[in-house]
Amino acid sequence: PAQDLPYDPETLRRINEHPCYSPEARHSFGRCHVAVAPKCNIQCNYCVRDFDCVNESRPGVTSMVLQPGEALERIDEVVAKMKHIKVVGIAGPGDPLANPETFETLRLVHERYPDTILCISTNGLLLPDKIDELEKYGVRNITVTLNAIDPAIGEKIYTFVEYGGKKYHGREAAELLLSHQLAGIEEAVRRKMLVKINTVYIPGVNDAHIPEIAKKVGAMGVFNFNIIPLIPQYKFKDILPPTPAEKAHMHELCAPYVRQMRHCQRCRADAVGLLGKDVQNEFGCCGKGDGS
Ligand code: SF4
Ligand code: SF4
Repeated sequence: PAQDLPYDPETLRRINEHPCYSPEARHSFGRCHVAVAPKCNIQCNYCVRDFDCVNESRPGVTSMVLQPGEALERIDEVVAKMKHIKVVGIAGPGDPLANPETFETLRLVHERYPDTILCISTNGLLLPDKIDELEKYGVRNITVTLNAIDPAIGEKIYTFVEYGGKKYHGREAAELLLSHQLAGIEEAVRRKMLVKINTVYIPGVNDAHIPEIAKKVGAMGVFNFNIIPLIPQYKFKDILPPTPAEKAHMHELCAPYVRQMRHCQRCRADAVGLLGKDVQNEFGCCGKGDGS
């Protein structure tokens, strides 16, 4: 498969020093998320606004949103104390690409720390529009949350999509989002970026469809595939999340098509440190920590 082709040394570094791209790296290298992106441009039926983006984060604790200058100060403080931080990521609390502060933050960090791996996580709606700007600031690790490749399923997952000053609903919204997600993923792969796909496992909604998603994105050449169990909220609050055994089984069904990420910790948008060993409270950014 495309994802097993040999990589150049710089790409290998972005795999081997990124805790979400390499299961080995998670023991040695950490990441620093900066929560500079509060706004979102879609409404997922499992998301309660005011919490971190469920796509990439544990709900229940709102991250304190930082301005770009404050984010840079925070990174200065973190890298001075923690030499194993190799990755700076923007994962919310909304959609990074929907917030101009994301790009200003990337610019500042790339200027001061040109060797730091920059990473973003997005719903993909604006990926085709923003990919040049991401490339300009050296972002080459991109996560797209893709919950369906069939708009008939997508329309059950999204209430609306806002694009170009217009709000779309139903099938039209799902088609628009999907076409942008696929175009963005294709372009990112073409530019040899490392693309990770997050798929939220929503029993009774997209579960039977998840291997199809894996097959499609594997054939497109994405790097890895991360299955995130639903956190029941908002319109999906009554859906029972998958059990760990069901999640493990889903990884097995998807593994023939694309490399699986099985160690995701559903980090907060302000997580800092090794995966599963976050230290955000030490840096005083939240103060309402859930103990992670
Ligand atoms: Fe919420 Fe993230 Fe979906 Fe936006 S993309 S609605 S922040 S879960
Ligand atoms: Fe990595 Fe998962 Fe945490 Fe994102 S939420 S930084 S993919 S471990």
